[in-house]
Amino acid sequence: MTNPEYWHGKPYYSLDAYCKNTYGEKLYKAALNAGFTCPNRDGTLGTKGCIFCSKGGSGDFASSFSDISASSPDEAEQIFEEAYQHSISFLSGKKTGQKYIIYFQAFTNTYGSVPYLEKIYRLALTRTNCVGISIATRPDCLPDPVINLLVRLREEYSPKFIWVELGLQSIHERSASFIRRGCSLSSFDVALEKLYSARILAVVHLILGLPGEHLTDMLQTVNYLNHQPVWGVKLQLLHILKDTDLEQYWRQDPDFYGSFRTLSLYLEALISCLEHLRPDMVIHRITGDAPRPLLLAPLWSAHKRHVLNTLHKQMKEQGSYQGKHYNDGKNYC
Ligand code: SF4
Repeated sequence: MTNPEYWHGKPYYSLDAYCKNTYGEKLYKAALNAGFTCPNRDGTLGTKGCIFCSKGGSGDFASSFSDISASSPDEAEQIFEEAYQHSISFLSGKKTGQKYIIYFQAFTNTYGSVPYLEKIYRLALTRTNCVGISIATRPDCLPDPVINLLVRLREEYSPKFIWVELGLQSIHERSASFIRRGCSLSSFDVALEKLYSARILAVVHLILGLPGEHLTDMLQTVNYLNHQPVWGVKLQLLHILKDTDLEQYWRQDPDFYGSFRTLSLYLEALISCLEHLRPDMVIHRITGDAPRPLLLAPLWSAHKRHVLNTLHKQMKEQGSYQGKHYNDGKNYC
């Protein structure tokens, strides 16, 4: 939907707007930790993980459940339902709707045997009021048998959806190497192509404010995505969290983390990224939430409502909107 009339008052095409246009109402995310690990942590590629990743595998708000691979169908059903309800209860402070997206959030949610993946995805797709599932993973963890499983389940449970979220963070090799991402841009391209061929919508995670990256670098990443089969994007401000390797860098040299010391610096870059982003790209996240007890910097980001209000006000005053400078990538910087 490139027409801002369908953006429900925001200067960008938010996930909220997409859900209202498609399902007639807001959908809420029930985040789960299904007990996976990650090749960047289990020794396959490394043991320390990406330098920004928390101990909870970037799923600190997710509701965990125990390994159900050996559980009977009834036990698995009960364990999964309890975790689902627990996750929904986190949303109780909000005005919750009736429908949910089950979000496999923590660690790498396709990094398991196909029978186990099938078991947990089926449990999710058969939950009451679940309209679809979103699976966070790495580009190098989508082998063909997993893609085939996703296609089978999508066909079987239609009209429920299956989205896949890929952690890219940046197209730049020096950043990928610094954050210890452990997979290449070409493996990201292959994953996107597989998802596109399988007609599974892809959401890409980007981090704004990686050390050493300037606005031009971020716009190059945005421009790259503009020309790929990407349906949605999560724009995540770089948070420094306790007990990550990033914390060590930051403690040794607070200047090291210089990009977004202030909200206004962040908004300047964020607005520019939005203006250059393809206008039909669905914005699943605009800053990100960090768990308060873990957040070390930037502390201004803890006031999310203020961040969003300031963003919307500033974009309105500037006459700014998603895709304003999208020009088939020719004038992005
Ligand atoms: S790939 Fe994801 S889960 Fe694994 S270490 Fe990196 S951020 Fe954490």
